[in-house]
Amino acid sequence: MCGIVGYAGYRSAAPILLQGLRRLEYRGYDSYGIATLSTEVCIHKKAGKVSELPDSPGILQGTIGIGHTRWATHGIPSDINAHPHQDCTDQIAVVHNGIIENYSALKRDLIGRGHIFRSDTDTEVIAHLIEEAYTGDLLEAVRNTLPLLSGSYALLIISAGENRLIAARNQSPLVLGIGDGEIFAASDITPLLEYTSRVIYLNDGDTAELRPDSYSVYFGDRPAEREIHEISWTPDTIQKGGFAHFMLKEIFEQPDAIHQAVHAVSEETLPSSLLNASSITVVACGSSYHAGMIFRYLIEPACGIPVRLEMGSEYKYASIPFSDVIIGISQSGETADTLAAIRKGICNNVKTVAITNVLNSTITRSAHDTILMHAGPEISVAASKSFISQVGVLMQVVNILSGGRCHDVLDHARYAIEQVLLTDLTEAVDICSKAEHIFYVGRGVFYPVMMEGALKMKEISYIHAEAYAAGELKHGPFALLSPETPAIAICIPGPAYEVMLGNMKEMKARGTPIIALGNDDDEDVREIADVIVPVPKGHPWTQVLTTTVLLQLLAYHTANRLGREIDMPRNLAKSVTVE
Ligand code: GLU
Repeated sequence: MCGIVGYAGYRSAAPILLQGLRRLEYRGYDSYGIATLSTEVCIHKKAGKVSELPDSPGILQGTIGIGHTRWATHGIPSDINAHPHQDCTDQIAVVHNGIIENYSALKRDLIGRGHIFRSDTDTEVIAHLIEEAYTGDLLEAVRNTLPLLSGSYALLIISAGENRLIAARNQSPLVLGIGDGEIFAASDITPLLEYTSRVIYLNDGDTAELRPDSYSVYFGDRPAEREIHEISWTPDTIQKGGFAHFMLKEIFEQPDAIHQAVHAVSEETLPSSLLNASSITVVACGSSYHAGMIFRYLIEPACGIPVRLEMGSEYKYASIPFSDVIIGISQSGETADTLAAIRKGICNNVKTVAITNVLNSTITRSAHDTILMHAGPEISVAASKSFISQVGVLMQVVNILSGGRCHDVLDHARYAIEQVLLTDLTEAVDICSKAEHIFYVGRGVFYPVMMEGALKMKEISYIHAEAYAAGELKHGPFALLSPETPAIAICIPGPAYEVMLGNMKEMKARGTPIIALGNDDDEDVREIADVIVPVPKGHPWTQVLTTTVLLQLLAYHTANRLGREIDMPRNLAKSVTVE
């Protein structure tokens, strides 16, 4: 949540910071701001999206600066609460990603000592504390301030008269980009791609001093060596490439994504903890949780390995027996709740495996083993290709553990997805775009597919969509059925086929319009459904993938019909780095 960016170099900082914030906007977009250093600290900050600012605002001089695009945790989105925040003297400016948990007590003390606060944020205490600690050396003042803070932070700080910027990290991501005569800092690598491929991932407890032509990293007050990594993502991977939205581009990238994901792990590279596991716990949030649930439906019958599935946010509070191995799934590798679960496992001597898309993200440095899914950057806040990649990796794990019996299916997965990308969904969109509530109904492995489908619809169209295991409908939700509440059902040949036909008839009898994902030539389905969305025949695993993609497209086209902000839905942000 929230993106921060910093620059120290020879070019004008403001345009670089603003462009960096546009790249990071998917992490938070309720307000933005930048500060640059000239003879004094100059600030421009505002409620709203940085992408709505004209290209050349002609503001702020200076070649050193910091910027922030916010996802508010403390204080409403407003001009005043936008970062950067300053001290009483306006000499110091701070941007912050994270939450300062003890800010109330700090704020009361600071007010008692005469400080004047201008915002409702937790962040502002940091600027005032640095002001108190400052005796002419910004690095020292920051170092003396950090021990007073509890909570999570990635911080960038500048001060008038100091030709440098200071960075600090604790439980929020922060990466440095090493250029030629210029240095960058950012929440992730996307703003750096245009300028450099050489990056340093800071660790928790690190501070760094960045000057145009040099940098130093410290752990506590001791100098620390941090490896420089070469990144392989290129700037064109973060462009829309002719698509109307990043989400549509990313949906269309899924044939490649599934191919990469399936090849991300082999019998030789599968972590031994998984090869030998007799029980597995999967911990994840949001779409990743749905991928974990699909995994459970696939692995238990194929390998007889029991899987516990836990939400990251609840795992911390649960007192449950540990499995042999914990799999933490997180697209960004920074999901706070999933990271906490991995750490809990490690503290209890359980082997941990991370499945993530981001090399060197915090989860990869926390878990014992990592499987990288190689989906490439995903900019749209709503997950599409990262979800399909998680499912691809997990299917491959099941395939390996069950002796390779689905090898061919996975080899052809990309072609199955290609087949459905251009499906005409107009009639289904006609129904969905008029609805206030939509039911998503499935059985077996298609229940988590429906959960993911409903989540997509909620996230980007703002229509209330709820997934139910079909058998549960009669235990209450039936009371909500009416001609105004369409239901989407997956009804394809398989163990649940007959009973799903029956469930659709029961819904139809209550006047509910039915959109069925089924085989095009299925007369029984056609008789009941108002609309059929055709699902190509194939192996059940393939159909998990194709129905997932069809539901993504249905959500996308519905949201587009309704004129929603598809890539940046209201109130959301990617990379949920706060608990
Ligand atoms: N807690 C800070 C605020 O609400 C930072 C939030 C963020 O990480 O965007 O301003």
